[in-house]
Amino acid sequence: MIFSKKKEIVEPYSVEECGSCKAISKRKFKEGDYIFKSTDKCSSCNGQMLVVKVFGEVFKE
Ligand SMILES: [Zn+2]
Repeated sequence: MIFSKKKEIVEPYSVEECGSCKAISKRKFKEGDYIFKSTDKCSSCNGQMLVVKVFGEVFKE
């Protein structure tokens, strides 16, 4: 019997949204991220970015 086990890797991501222009940016999750955490300034309008979503994407090898 051949048993092959697929390895699953979950890569966590954070989605940030600008409070002013609503620009969305997705980036890799950083330690300490949580929903509604204030992060960087928006690159287009200099508004305050907030983490609006944290999710994991599953990759199979
Ligand atoms: Zn903005």
